[in-house]
Amino acid sequence: MFHLVLTACFAASSPLCMPVLLPAGSAATREDCRHGAARITQDWLQDHPDLTGNGFRCVAGNQLPALDLREIAPGVHVYQGRPAQMEDTADGRIANLGVVIGEDRIAVIDSGVSRRQGQEFLTAIRQISDKPISHVILTHMHPDHVLGAAVFAEAGAQVVAHHALPRALAVRAQSYLDNALRLFGAEQMLGTEIVLPDMVVTDSMTIDLGGRSLLLRTARTAHTDNDLTVFDDASGTLFTGDLLFRELTPVVDGSLLGWIDWAEMPPSPVPSLIVPGHGRVAQNWPEAVKPQQDFLTALRDATRETIRDGLPMSRAVPRIVEGMSAWRNGWQSYEATVARDATASFKELEWEQ
Ligand SMILES: [Zn+2]
Repeated sequence: MFHLVLTACFAASSPLCMPVLLPAGSAATREDCRHGAARITQDWLQDHPDLTGNGFRCVAGNQLPALDLREIAPGVHVYQGRPAQMEDTADGRIANLGVVIGEDRIAVIDSGVSRRQGQEFLTAIRQISDKPISHVILTHMHPDHVLGAAVFAEAGAQVVAHHALPRALAVRAQSYLDNALRLFGAEQMLGTEIVLPDMVVTDSMTIDLGGRSLLLRTARTAHTDNDLTVFDDASGTLFTGDLLFRELTPVVDGSLLGWIDWAEMPPSPVPSLIVPGHGRVAQNWPEAVKPQQDFLTALRDATRETIRDGLPMSRAVPRIVEGMSAWRNGWQSYEATVARDATASFKELEWEQ
């Protein structure tokens, strides 16, 4: 497959130009790619007034950078992010991303932290299959999962998410973009934008990919208030999004108690493969979820103790962090996260009866 690559320049302070893949121009031959290229680049630039074009070319897919995908079951491919917090990495590529290929269509689960990562994800998928990508499913609002979605929307995919995601993401959109730009620079973030869903899931939804179906299910407020899981019936693979953290310290951005409750209910049907939002793919649910559950219940108990002792938040947070020190081992980016978690936990539990 050939991809249309525009050189786009960002002229805010010092001019910076980066290759931007325009999925609307992808074609089986170089000739076909060239055919509509001028119009497609012009239309795209019109929608991106902060960028200017500096020429385009049609490039064979194997000449472009691509994410490293691993096939974990027939037709199920995973990119494994680096288990660290965004601020501890150079490019923010920390989230696991998934692809499920049916007989007729492809669904993508999460999209990466930037347009650039989304492009490399799309290029990698196109090295495996040229079937249409019908859906990009966002497991929740966090930037490491959603900021590559525009690439798939431009490739023709419907963007699907939990019904609470549009509002939650719209409120945070500018701060997510500003923060990512500050952390990773324009070279990583050029052309990155927020895309809101075309379709939302209220309770559950099935997506037929031909010969296999994905079951999407919303969760009650847990990691965030817009968590969605995806189960592939053909392989028994469950994509949990950030409802499951492995290796990377869990981040509470919804409800600690809700999250503990969620993890107490074993998934049904029982998955044979579990793709967490961060960390390694697992095969056994109780084993996969136990370290996170131990961490979260310890956080809850340490927080309740400070509330029982009547401590104000300024004194409670360091005490909770201290109380959690036995859970430090085995979790990446622990120091950066545990104080944030203690604050979130205190704010939530302070009002418990
Ligand atoms: Zn998250």
